[in-house]
Amino acid sequence: MLAYLNEFRTSKAAGYYLRAIEKVAPEHQVTLMEICGGHTLTLVKYGLKALLPEQIRLISGPGCPVCVTAQEYIDTALELCKLPDVIITSFGDMLRVPGSYSSLSGEKARGADVRVCLSSLDAVEIARRHTDKQVVFLGIGFETTAPTVAYAVKTAHRENLTNFSVLSALKTIPSAMHALMQSGETDIQGFICPGHVSTITGTSMYEQIVKQYAMPCVVCGFEPTDMLCTIAMIMAQLKQGAARVENQYKRSVKLKGNTKALEIMEEVFEEQDSTWRGLGVIPRSGLKIRDSYKLFDAAKRFSLTLPQAKENPACICGAVMRGIKIPSDCALFAKKCTPDSPVGACMVSGEGICGIYYKYSQH
Ligand code: SF4
Repeated sequence: MLAYLNEFRTSKAAGYYLRAIEKVAPEHQVTLMEICGGHTLTLVKYGLKALLPEQIRLISGPGCPVCVTAQEYIDTALELCKLPDVIITSFGDMLRVPGSYSSLSGEKARGADVRVCLSSLDAVEIARRHTDKQVVFLGIGFETTAPTVAYAVKTAHRENLTNFSVLSALKTIPSAMHALMQSGETDIQGFICPGHVSTITGTSMYEQIVKQYAMPCVVCGFEPTDMLCTIAMIMAQLKQGAARVENQYKRSVKLKGNTKALEIMEEVFEEQDSTWRGLGVIPRSGLKIRDSYKLFDAAKRFSLTLPQAKENPACICGAVMRGIKIPSDCALFAKKCTPDSPVGACMVSGEGICGIYYKYSQH
């Protein structure tokens, strides 16, 4: 495995792609957005931005699942975990995201039953073992996670585990790309498209973006040379005046994606409007559980009245995820807001932009 990864991290390969980029780099400034938090991590961790010609600017987008999850959702989870006989199950990062008045880890410390899972099936197993409790799984993320959550719902349905439900805040990536382009806030000339999401969906979902905005979209892997190769591919398209979907990450991403995963998503979920932190409500950008599985929909099972969600007004997570600010523009960055004491969601996750800059850049 190491030998395999090392092939994508050699200075010889990096030098090759950097020379390719220089050959096609324009004289004027161009801005590319990497959508995925995993790509931001590679760019910052390996110092790739500093190696690029200065006219190529890279900005980060809304591709960290924890970061884009709306404050209202966190507050709902906080209310649920206070109900008697409810176990909240979640991926670990979510526990530290500040809600309007607390966090799940804070409530856990106060005695709430909040458990970290490595997969949605772990939550199903908890439901099997605690039939006297209601087990709620916090279903967040994008097309990458959605099939696994759908499989958990189908498993609970098959086993008649009526004490299992999912609170879905699942979202779809192309909707956010459209929202960014339509806002006109950010001047973007090319998208570095997420490799993991595309492994599930395939590459055709970016065709509409190419067509509507004449925007090169290149699906990218997660190693340093994957990213340099992708940047060279986008620059070559821009130089030719072309705009098309290309796939740099062929070792994982196929044209039609993972058809089994797409089928199970389609069976369990349907589109709904969804609120994104920093982007607001984006029509048809979320996935809700279909009526045929409504017994497993936590939003239907529990009816809660929530106070108005409050975010720290000094936190600029939203602007950071729209690519119009960088973490160091935030007055709290690396001062009041650190990974040990996060003020905003972007400082929490390993894919959060502020957390990545805190860890790997000089600040
Ligand atoms: S540094 Fe902290 S407070 Fe500032 S934008 Fe990032 S997460 Fe929000």
